[in-house]
Amino acid sequence: MDLGIRGRRALVCASSKGLGLGCARALADAGADLVMNARSAGPLEAAAESLRTTYGTTVVTVAADITDESDRAQVLEIAGSVDILVTNAGGPPPGLWQDWEREDFIRALDANMLTPIALMKALVPGMMERGWGRVVNITSQSVKAPVPVLGLSNSARAGLTGYVAGTARQVAPYGVTINNLLPGLHATDRADALDRAVAETGGISLDEARAQRFATIPARRYGTPKEFGAACAFLCSQHAGFIVGQNILLDGGAVNATL
Ligand code: NAP
Repeated sequence: MDLGIRGRRALVCASSKGLGLGCARALADAGADLVMNARSAGPLEAAAESLRTTYGTTVVTVAADITDESDRAQVLEIAGSVDILVTNAGGPPPGLWQDWEREDFIRALDANMLTPIALMKALVPGMMERGWGRVVNITSQSVKAPVPVLGLSNSARAGLTGYVAGTARQVAPYGVTINNLLPGLHATDRADALDRAVAETGGISLDEARAQRFATIPARRYGTPKEFGAACAFLCSQHAGFIVGQNILLDGGAVNATL
């Protein structure tokens, strides 16, 4: 299917690896020009070069911490006008509910709520003026079903979800859609780190930890960045203009709910 976004300019944050890279790859495959971001320059440039070579698309890279205000200003300056924004950043660390102090919450809110909001505030007005835009925020299945050890993530992402619910309806009249993609367990470095935490906490091997986590997913496997990217590219496509303010779960059926 032609997604109708050939030549559109997309900023994909936190995209040298994992789900962000899956989104960047699918958008490049659809013919979009990219601005990619991550903190470490080496892996970011390597990922960008592989997309240039494979898809012949233009890719600009900005090595910066997207959760830091001055770094983010640099990303926005280099990105300029974009038609498509995919927000993403690393997730907060796991822990127990009584571990976290105010500063831990502020860090999580900055990274996983206030950063995507700042990016939308900077870029959505231009999309509205031009009468077309797509925003996809990578959040988490923890928005629908809490992951007890990820209390910081549960809290910050719920805040972003509330903001998007109202804002998406305010910008929709201008041809701009905002939606959230909610990953369940996907095979990325982040999933490896969480597997290790489960193994350590439970005193079991990494394979046992992984088998335990597969058993919680009706699809009996982790999702792939490729599948995730394809869903993101569809939400960014010409065909998705009537999908507004939705929270779309990609979790292999893990959240046991009728709606
Ligand atoms: P990942 O494989 O660890 O990749 C993270 C990517 O983000 C890397 O490119 C990393 O590069 C970049 N990054 C991290 N922090 C950044 C920052 N502050 N500024 C700019 N770039 C940054 O992670 P992932 O699994 O794709 O996860 C992406 C998001 O989805 C996370 O928020 C995670 O919590 C959430 N999520 C993932 C899963 C899963 O199963 N994978 C499930 C639910 C939710 P640098 O390190 O070089 O910056």
